[in-house]
Amino acid sequence: METKDWKNLGFGYSKTDYNVRCYFKDGKWGKLETHSSEAITMHMGATCLHYGQECFEGMKAFRGKDGKIRVFRMKDNAKRMAESAEGIRMQPIPEDVFCNAVREAVKLNERFVPPFDSGASLYIRPLLIGTGPQVGVKPADEYLFIVFVMPVGPYFKEGFKPTDLAIYREYDRAAPHGTGKFKVGGNYAASMAAGERAHEEGFSAVLYLDAKEKKYIDECGPANFFAIQGNKYITPRSTSILESITNKSLRQIATDLGMEVEVRPILEDELSNFDEVGACGTAAVISPIKRVVDVEENKEYNYGDEPGKVSTKLYETLRGIQYGTMEDKHNWVEVIE
Ligand SMILES: *Cc1c(COP(=O)(O)O)cnc(C)c1O
Repeated sequence: METKDWKNLGFGYSKTDYNVRCYFKDGKWGKLETHSSEAITMHMGATCLHYGQECFEGMKAFRGKDGKIRVFRMKDNAKRMAESAEGIRMQPIPEDVFCNAVREAVKLNERFVPPFDSGASLYIRPLLIGTGPQVGVKPADEYLFIVFVMPVGPYFKEGFKPTDLAIYREYDRAAPHGTGKFKVGGNYAASMAAGERAHEEGFSAVLYLDAKEKKYIDECGPANFFAIQGNKYITPRSTSILESITNKSLRQIATDLGMEVEVRPILEDELSNFDEVGACGTAAVISPIKRVVDVEENKEYNYGDEPGKVSTKLYETLRGIQYGTMEDKHNWVEVIE
């Protein structure tokens, strides 16, 4: 195994041995290819470069106490990538091609899967880009699907420690009937200005309100939002947020723990009624929130400096399933052999 300072890994790119690729050309997907180069070459007129015809996924592989490597809910990611692709008229990647590429990329880079006790994991980044040239705004006729991986630590440097979020009214991430429900790069380009401002002002991320009315909570940039109120797990329903697989899993875990689950529009004003709030996604798992500041309105909602009891329970259960120390009742993990 690779020797690294596993416990102090951040969330960032690092080179591993191989990436796995598949090209769509002449109307069909080719065979999986293994590459060791980090570079790709493409036509300067590629649609991903000019018109943002690209989508991606994010998932993780975990090394268990038993030494086995587990990948979490891979088929859900495959399905979501196909939906994102169709949403911006790209050639969708078939589920079996997606899953085989992920299995292959993890196996080939096995020495980079962090040890069990490090708390780190192997981040898997599937990427689909339009590579065929178009200067008129039209879908490409050629695509590249690529899967690369890297060992990562916590997304927010604080880890499972509460952080602060900012609400800004002068930025929108996604329109109600735009591409917010797809995992496409364009949404991230649209979020950079607000994200950078949040970091400069000491916040870990932005909590976006719905773009139309600026009344309802959407999500936190790269993560969904959830709240705990008594025995309830509450998360927004909105046409402009991405359906997070972590959030879907937490809803199931909450149900399994005997909690009530509500998926509905959440008014910003309700922030003052919640016991705990958090952001959830593959990268952060759960990132508890200490404080939400509505900057222009000069309002503040506080949840305390320590992670809440329910968030902690949800976090530990999800991590337990992912690392193979708790029962995987819903068949979420696949052991990579
Ligand atoms: C990827 C992503 C999430 C988190 O989804 P997971 O499937 O839980 O990783 C949330 N919001 C946005 C905008 C995302 O791109």
